[in-house]
Amino acid sequence: MDNYIVSARKYRPSTFRSVVGQEALTTTLKNAIINNKLAHAYLFSGPRGVGKTTCARIFAKTINCFHPTADHEACNVCESCVAFNEQRSYNIHELDAASNNGVDDIRALIEQVRIPPQIGKYKVYIIDEVHMLSTSAFNSFLKTLEEPPAHAIFILATTEKHKIIPTILSRCQVYDFNRISISDIVHHLEYVAEQENVKAETEALNIIAQKADGGMRDALSIFDQMVSYTGGNITYSAVIDTLNVLDYEYYFKLTDTILAGNVVDCLLIINDIYNRGFEGQYIIGGLASHFRDLLVCKDSRSAQLFQVGSSIRNRYIETAKRCSNEFLYQAIDMANTCDLNYRASKNKRLLVELTMIRLCQLIENPTETTLDRKDDSTLKPIKKPEQPAATTTTSQSEAKATTYASTPNVKNKMQEPPSEEKEPNTASKNIPPKKEAPLKKRTVSINEMGISISELKNENKKENTSELNNKKNGSKPFTEENLINAWKAYADALTEEKLLKNTMSLYLPKLLAETLFEVEVNTEINKHYLEDNSASILAYLREKLQNDDVTMTIKIAEGNAIKKPLTSREIFDEMVKQNSSLQKLSDEFGLELS
Ligand SMILES: [Zn+2]
Repeated sequence: MDNYIVSARKYRPSTFRSVVGQEALTTTLKNAIINNKLAHAYLFSGPRGVGKTTCARIFAKTINCFHPTADHEACNVCESCVAFNEQRSYNIHELDAASNNGVDDIRALIEQVRIPPQIGKYKVYIIDEVHMLSTSAFNSFLKTLEEPPAHAIFILATTEKHKIIPTILSRCQVYDFNRISISDIVHHLEYVAEQENVKAETEALNIIAQKADGGMRDALSIFDQMVSYTGGNITYSAVIDTLNVLDYEYYFKLTDTILAGNVVDCLLIINDIYNRGFEGQYIIGGLASHFRDLLVCKDSRSAQLFQVGSSIRNRYIETAKRCSNEFLYQAIDMANTCDLNYRASKNKRLLVELTMIRLCQLIENPTETTLDRKDDSTLKPIKKPEQPAATTTTSQSEAKATTYASTPNVKNKMQEPPSEEKEPNTASKNIPPKKEAPLKKRTVSINEMGISISELKNENKKENTSELNNKKNGSKPFTEENLINAWKAYADALTEEKLLKNTMSLYLPKLLAETLFEVEVNTEINKHYLEDNSASILAYLREKLQNDDVTMTIKIAEGNAIKKPLTSREIFDEMVKQNSSLQKLSDEFGLELS
């Protein structure tokens, strides 16, 4: 390692073929050379370190080469090529406009342009960071650019194309250089490591490539630092330590707690990350990328595009299996919203923590109800000021027949004005109101999509509490016929919820007492549809029959009860299977039935 040469210089490509990650562009340049269609001025634009100057040099060398190879690359052995490679060719002039941006610098260059080449055919003038030229320098350059001598070729390079004045731009052939993909950078680093007998873990190189943000020069320079820091054994842990990158491990742990709905552990991990000196926006941005990577890994084909070592890739694939697409969409959306609001937020840490809490609420773990309830109560002051009233919904395990009585509930989507109307009472001091609106709506919709039954119920409870006291339909008597007609009217109006519609058409209500009716169904699933929609059904019936005391019980017919011993989860999955695509479609296009 003693006489280690900086990789960026040592591994600078010397032919078009060896330029990494710019194939389309180098092919076009090569074709121009093959067809002898050279322009007098080129503009190479693109981010730093992606090969603009390198390509300009290769181009200059190739068009001056005496014996180009069969595939039209520079031979690297002729007199001209050797002079180029030893950086003593007179046919190439480089001007760094960042430090030489005055009129005099340009005049000196223009003087040289007139002198024809001693050997070779072309003189190539590379002006780096050309957008830094002063206006007067630009103007004096313009004349030369308009009428260049036959032997002169200008290659202007810039990271900021928009700063180039149109009169220059219109005289150049423009080549836009891309950021180099992470996998291209990793491949190249692997190659360099092999050549240099450096041991390097793929995960480590992947982190270097990410950190370089598409620039090969930066990647190689980080690589060099890591070589000297690790003595030639580049490990993942050494790289994340040195580069101050947050370990994947943290994101996996966070994902686990979110999937378990475990708010406490989630916040503890966030605290740990903060203590390690990472900033909130970095954490949330990293988490968003992590969810995105999980989404990519849902499909084994796209997972192959995910350039990491196979062990970590398998871990992503395994974790992805535990996440539904809907969950990942929501999670990415939430993390992204947090990221957008981060700068404006007065209490940034609270914003991050609140987002984590919401993420935990996306999925509720039924085995941790105690914990959830505790967390729920922590949340209420932020989310909704009202305390939920005692409600009627009993769990399915408690009784075969369930009674729905006292809650005049939210109406079904189809009868309801858009949910924005409910937003005002959710405002929070610390969070920009903008954030609240989409998130809240989202929470409701994911529940409808069926990630958590109990959350849906909670949501309904909370929504309704405020309406409880000010909504009176009266206590008008009604007959069973009135009831059945209202029941059918509700079913008829359903368009999207086909299964509920079928259930309601199949099973008609029987009046047991003045305001109490019973629906006897055959299966647990039917019972479930009615239970989950009982709130809106009752609200509708109460309004239609002008009676606030209308109460429903649902019963499974004798002998049928044990037929389908499904757990609530199974029933629930069944429901999602039946209607998730419709629900998703509706959510994605923001459709509201009128
Ligand atoms: Zn040559």
